[in-house]
Amino acid sequence: METKIFDFRKEIKEDELKYCAKCLQEGKIGIFPTETVYGLGASALSDQAASLIFKAKNRASDNPLIIHISDFSMLYDLVQEPNEVEKKLLDAFFPGPFTLILKGKKHIPKTVNANLKTVGIRMPDNEIAHKLIAYANIPICAPSANLSSKPSGTTLEDIQDEFMGKVSFMINGGPTQIGLESTVCQVINGIPTILRPGKITQEDIAKVVGCCKLDDYLFKEATNTIPKSPGMKYKHYAPSKEAILLYSASEKELIALIKEKVKPKTAIIGCLEHQNLFPNCKYFSYGSKNDYETIMHEIFTLLRKVDQENIDYIIIEGVKKEGLGLAIMNRLIRSVSFNYIER
Ligand code: AMP
Ligand code: MG
Repeated sequence: METKIFDFRKEIKEDELKYCAKCLQEGKIGIFPTETVYGLGASALSDQAASLIFKAKNRASDNPLIIHISDFSMLYDLVQEPNEVEKKLLDAFFPGPFTLILKGKKHIPKTVNANLKTVGIRMPDNEIAHKLIAYANIPICAPSANLSSKPSGTTLEDIQDEFMGKVSFMINGGPTQIGLESTVCQVINGIPTILRPGKITQEDIAKVVGCCKLDDYLFKEATNTIPKSPGMKYKHYAPSKEAILLYSASEKELIALIKEKVKPKTAIIGCLEHQNLFPNCKYFSYGSKNDYETIMHEIFTLLRKVDQENIDYIIIEGVKKEGLGLAIMNRLIRSVSFNYIER
């Protein structure tokens, strides 16, 4: 298949964007930027189109896709009437890096939401994504544009080779603004519950509706249970080399722990402040230790970059699990397949 690449880093070219929208209408698939990570999109009205995504990503068929919309009129064709709590969340966080799980309508293609009664909906707050969906004039299902189990793509360059020849178009919009996928939230017995943490935090949600719970499995393996979100049982964001995540609230303890774990040919992903402490390792800084926005922005690209080095082992320095740190640690703990030590 021919893959056309469009460069919208300086400006959006409307004709080319309309071409991409037409591809989606015709049941083809393509890659586009959003404010979170790059997405691999298809018509959410077609089983056949959605199945191309599963094939291109090698994604398990029981892991549902989030449906992306450009305005509220699309929402009511897809879901049943939201309750009061859900309405407040939609008002507050659409458009934005927030996915709400709602009761779906019967006509949603089974391939899209893995035959569930619910469906995840998001309205991206990114000009390219918004216009692409609006021009296509159909809801677009889109998971992150990466092969299953690999880190999500936050630049087109990171994922281009994985999908060349497998998609009809790729739009380069430069590095994505946020760098981690959307917060996934479901209102359960009237209480919003975070199934995947992201830029919209527990505190942000609690401010709007008074309370917000975290799912029990944000930091635990969901292997012997049926998770609320099917994606929780799968391997994610993993480099190909063996990796470990280390954290201590005490800086001294954390540095000692890293020193203890260093092996020959180790790469470390950690904060700027520690970059000169481990002279025998390749060091990749994710930014200043308390600058969680920068860490979020850098982490997936670094996980890919480190994997290309001539090393045998990866040590990742963790952050405090609060505020945005919760989302960062949720991804990191999965990227090391739960190989985590906290002291
Ligand atoms: P991604 O593949 O990066 O787009 O991630 C989408 C995440 O949302 C996956 O973990 C899915 O399992 C989850 N998800 C999508 N739809 C639903 C749904 N209806 N109920 C629960 N989780 C969902
Ligand atoms: Mg993903």
